[in-house]
Amino acid sequence: QCSAACPESAITLRSEIDLVRTAIGDPEKVVVFSTSPSVRVGLGDAFLDKAGTWAEGKMVAALKALGADYVFDVTFSADLTIIEEGCELLSRLLTGSGPLPQFTSCCPAWVKYVETYHPQLIANLSTAKSPIGMQGATIKTYFAGKAGIDPAKLVTVNVTPCTAKKAEIRRSELADAGNLVGRSDMRDNDYVITTKELAQWMKEEHIVFEELADAEFDSILGKGSGAGVIFGNTGGVMEAALRMAFQSLTGQPPANDLLDFEPVRGLTGVKKAAVELAGKQINVAVVYGTANAEKFLAGDISDYHFVEVMTCPGGCISGAGQPQMHCVPVVDDIRRSRISSMYAEDARMSLRNSIDNPQVAQVYREFYGEPLGPLAEKLLHTSYRSR
Ligand code: SF4
Repeated sequence: QCSAACPESAITLRSEIDLVRTAIGDPEKVVVFSTSPSVRVGLGDAFLDKAGTWAEGKMVAALKALGADYVFDVTFSADLTIIEEGCELLSRLLTGSGPLPQFTSCCPAWVKYVETYHPQLIANLSTAKSPIGMQGATIKTYFAGKAGIDPAKLVTVNVTPCTAKKAEIRRSELADAGNLVGRSDMRDNDYVITTKELAQWMKEEHIVFEELADAEFDSILGKGSGAGVIFGNTGGVMEAALRMAFQSLTGQPPANDLLDFEPVRGLTGVKKAAVELAGKQINVAVVYGTANAEKFLAGDISDYHFVEVMTCPGGCISGAGQPQMHCVPVVDDIRRSRISSMYAEDARMSLRNSIDNPQVAQVYREFYGEPLGPLAEKLLHTSYRSR
């Protein structure tokens, strides 16, 4: 834990926690938490001596102890994102429906950076919402209907490693669920609290992390694949997309060298690779940090088909909302520990491809219809503008 002398311990991160607490105390409200992939490898750093400890079960247990009505997993909607974003990529590749390369859009800081400094690339950004954007819209429409809950009573709270997500959920475009049900005052997501804020809240409530018994996510938005888990690492979105694209085009599961696609792993700022998909060479790049992005954009990008950009070093595992351990700034060794923890979980899982997620298939069957279909376009995709 940070000592009293640590500047971090002096920062008060209360406002959003207090609003969530108020919602939990309101009997009229149903409070639904969704946890981003990286939270489970960062939360333990606020309590333990070992960085990157896998803490999924304790994280869910802590949220239930704090009063959550439901705890869902953003790895579910990371899989949904990969289906929509992967289908969009295949559409651009096969039918020329949009410019290439396609850039990822799940990092709101990168999206804002493009809108501000490179608006000529806006059409290259995937229109797929980020995983939490898809999660909120799905909770307030599909889940609300299935559970028989008035969507206006649902309060969606995302626990993320990311401070930029607090601004993302307030983008005026991200109110599609409300538009669908005729509630113009309803946002898809109501609050974002960071991993650090969750740890602070747990300490205030005297929840002893080490003593928590593991708990499980609720269904039906509570199951993700290994591909959804590794979204938190630099290169994870790319690897997840390649797994999905290969299986979608060939009908076969990817071979081991594509399932564990080493060229896009690790802490190098710009990684480049080529993959053969259905007889066509696909050139990909994985970038983190805006300085690296500028270097990449300064070159010839016309040969690339798909580019992942995350602004934090190593991806979301070291987002600004992740806790420090013993007040020591997050360094590469800690990043590697968190990344290893995620890849180890992915390797342990039998479900490793977003396209195989049975809960995602169920949501398409019962609600969205098909990827890039009319309802999916309305609720799972968004637009950007020059700023
Ligand atoms: Fe947020 Fe950083 Fe992840 Fe971007 S890379 S979504 S800014 S935590």
